[in-house]
Amino acid sequence: MVSGAAPWSVASAPHRWRAGYIGVVPAPTSCDICGFRWDDVTGDVVGRLTRASESFVDVVTNAGALVSRRPSPERWSILEYAGHLRDVLISIRERIILAVVTDRPTGVAMHRDERVDRGLYRHDTVADVSEELTVVTRLFTKTVSSLREDDTRRALIYSSASPHEVTVAWAIAQAIHEAEHHLGDIRENLTRLD
Ligand SMILES: [Zn+2]
Repeated sequence: MVSGAAPWSVASAPHRWRAGYIGVVPAPTSCDICGFRWDDVTGDVVGRLTRASESFVDVVTNAGALVSRRPSPERWSILEYAGHLRDVLISIRERIILAVVTDRPTGVAMHRDERVDRGLYRHDTVADVSEELTVVTRLFTKTVSSLREDDTRRALIYSSASPHEVTVAWAIAQAIHEAEHHLGDIRENLTRLD
């Protein structure tokens, strides 16, 4: 597992997994690494996610040769973090839409490490990922701003790999967490590679 991954993921979830069973565990309320607090997300969520994404793209486009280097084997490169955030926003957007139109669905797990390890990001370039991240952020925020108030209170199981029962509002906050948390990761990469 990559060190920048969220600490509440599969490995730390105190559930027992077996076929056909999801042991629902409480959703995390704060991140031990970056200090993000889900309850603190209020008000202009679209603006907050957009700013984090724009800052992310700014780092990606200005990192030069450092963009594709890993500071250590267990950390992703800046470009890999960017590909991850792109896919996170796609994945969470799909979970939100599913939760709005069906009752208490289980979101599809991302398998974030496998995507990188299987070489699925090997064709990513700075220009492509910057554009893709901008577009998926716009798609995500357009969907979020289309929701009704009661949509944000609808429930879902986040995924079979992270079986937290959460609300759509929590999932929106999680998208912001992913963007801000990994923005910290890529800035840390720059200092480690300097
Ligand atoms: Zn965090």
